[in-house]
Amino acid sequence: MVTPDMDTTSVEELTYCAVHPDRETALRCNKCGRYMCVDCAVRSPVGYRCRECARGIEDKFFNASEADYVIIAAVCAALAGIAGAIAQAASIPLLFMLILGLPVGGVIAEAALRAVQRRRGRQSPVIAGVATALGGLLGAGITLYLTISNAYSQIAAQLPPAARAEIPAPALDQIFAAVVSDFRLLIFLGILVFAVYGRFKMRM
Ligand SMILES: [Zn+2]
Ligand SMILES: [Zn+2]
Repeated sequence: MVTPDMDTTSVEELTYCAVHPDRETALRCNKCGRYMCVDCAVRSPVGYRCRECARGIEDKFFNASEADYVIIAAVCAALAGIAGAIAQAASIPLLFMLILGLPVGGVIAEAALRAVQRRRGRQSPVIAGVATALGGLLGAGITLYLTISNAYSQIAAQLPPAARAEIPAPALDQIFAAVVSDFRLLIFLGILVFAVYGRFKMRM
């Protein structure tokens, strides 16, 4: 860098990128003040910054701990499980499922965000989305299992005692197959996951 006193003949003070000394630039990082060329400038919510200062913002932004990830996963899975159970038990028309998906997903994400005091991590959106999907499927599966075994025991109650032992427990593989082939449920859970993931991805 050139100081004005050193060379009185220079009309303008030329400044160069701190990383690339051969590149003339007038652009400065608005945090540390160093000169930076267009390749080194990073656009941040608070203006152009050098790469180092931009990374500082990101680290401050992502402040979730590993315990937060566990909490996010637990809250999303539990609430999506309830939503999946209700979707499985009640024969809600597909149109309503489509309409309800986004707000319900929003509520799930909001609850999870509050549980971790809005701390965010790089992995939060993915963890929240996966937990929502698994929780929803599990909630629907458990509900279907209970519905079927309840129906079985009602049938069993009408049979003579000697025949009751032959009543089978619901087959888990068939329950799994029924849940993952229920496209109404899958569309609902898909929208839930989309809403939860999107809410976590959204910045503040
Ligand atoms: Zn800087
Ligand atoms: Zn540069």
